[in-house]
Amino acid sequence: MIAIPTNPLTNGAGAVVRRLTEKGFRALWAGGCVRDLLMQRAPKDFDVATSAAPEEVERLFPGAVTVGKSFGVVRVKVQGCEYEVATFRQDQAYRDGRHPEGVIFSDERTDALRRDFTVNALFFDPLRGQVLDYVGGQADLAARLIRAVGRAEDRFAEDHLRMIRAARFASTLNFELEAATAEAIRRQAPKIATVSAERIQQELTHILLEAARPGTALELLRDLGLLPIILPEVAALKGQEQPPEFHPEGDVWTHTIMMLNAMRNQDLRLAYAVLLHDVGKPGTATFASERIRFNCHAGVGAALAETMLKRLRLPNDDIKAIAYCIGNHMRFMDVQRMRKATLHRLVGAATFATELELHRLDCEASHGDMANYRFLVEFQAAAQAAPILPKPWVTGHDVLSLGVSAGPEVGRWKKKVYDQQLEGAVPNREAALEWLRRELAAGSRPVIP
Ligand code: ATP
Ligand code: MG
Repeated sequence: MIAIPTNPLTNGAGAVVRRLTEKGFRALWAGGCVRDLLMQRAPKDFDVATSAAPEEVERLFPGAVTVGKSFGVVRVKVQGCEYEVATFRQDQAYRDGRHPEGVIFSDERTDALRRDFTVNALFFDPLRGQVLDYVGGQADLAARLIRAVGRAEDRFAEDHLRMIRAARFASTLNFELEAATAEAIRRQAPKIATVSAERIQQELTHILLEAARPGTALELLRDLGLLPIILPEVAALKGQEQPPEFHPEGDVWTHTIMMLNAMRNQDLRLAYAVLLHDVGKPGTATFASERIRFNCHAGVGAALAETMLKRLRLPNDDIKAIAYCIGNHMRFMDVQRMRKATLHRLVGAATFATELELHRLDCEASHGDMANYRFLVEFQAAAQAAPILPKPWVTGHDVLSLGVSAGPEVGRWKKKVYDQQLEGAVPNREAALEWLRRELAAGSRPVIP
């Protein structure tokens, strides 16, 4: 039995199927949402597959927008939620390893066969409560396997992006890659070079943010032969030795993998900062005074990271923040010797939360000395606890203009009226001036306790 949660997203997805079915069309939930429901995970979104042509879908759902005319995909809105409704289709030949030449509208079985992995090729009829499995997807779900639909070799030759998608689903679902599927990827891995960097980045970002162990996922990408092509600068960390007194864990690759696996929050900037924080090391390694040094590796790494992230088409403000964190990460070694003003600026930076977490992971995954981390946590807490005083409403100038003669009296009156302001005894500048005027007229003395 499949348990369907009741919430607006799921209810709307049911309503889409009902409306299409009432008009005589076949309509089913399809792909990732069915997989997630069978795994008792809440689907992020619902895709609907149908026998209705895109024009018919548009007619049935006012305000529908066709997003991929040639693919038959229409985005519809029901009860405030959005759904993609796609006509059952069969992809025509892929000539470039990226896009089919076109599509032919077909039936549900053929639509299942064009999908990438068996666990992603399931349908569910919410009106009958029935799973439709044309590819053995349920057995693979139970066995926790990512298996290409049909002949793996052909499916990766058609669309090379599927190779990194296989690694994505294996690592985010914590499944194994079925042997023939993994073998086919190893044989065709170099072809990933022809896929657009943006599509690769989307899958990579899913891996970094959604895998329980993103470091282990990176090992998988390396094992499949994909990593040297999509991230050669990261692949180069493998075998890059570093001083054992600071890095008892091993080479830069091992250190980076450990940090990725230890990440606690799903944060894009942190994930890419961790991935690339030491990417400047291989290029700056020198052997001096009996040990390996990486002079300026943070700055070199920041510049390299910027180039890489531009290539991957990450948003510009993210690139800037990530490069800043990387360029700044070695300064955290000196925090206990920094001037207060420098520390305030460090802690006040918009990137500080990310930088502090990067630093924590960096120490945890190496020497384990958390003194600088604890110092910063305490400094930040003290800085935040210190009250921020409002600007005084009444200045020395005001006091003089009310007739107090220049001298220490001015400062005393200024302080007295400021106390009135801080205590809330006067609501604004005018009231504060009025209070001062009255005090002066009454001949009071600004005695300060
Ligand atoms: P998520 O929950 O992360 O969105 P998903 O399974 O919904 O995962 P999508 O990328 O949204 O993944 O794709 C939706 C469905 O479309 C997949 O489940 C799969 O059936 C099919 N699909 C997507 N991309 C491909 C592809 N490159 N080749 C074949 N089928 C694909
Ligand atoms: Mg999806």
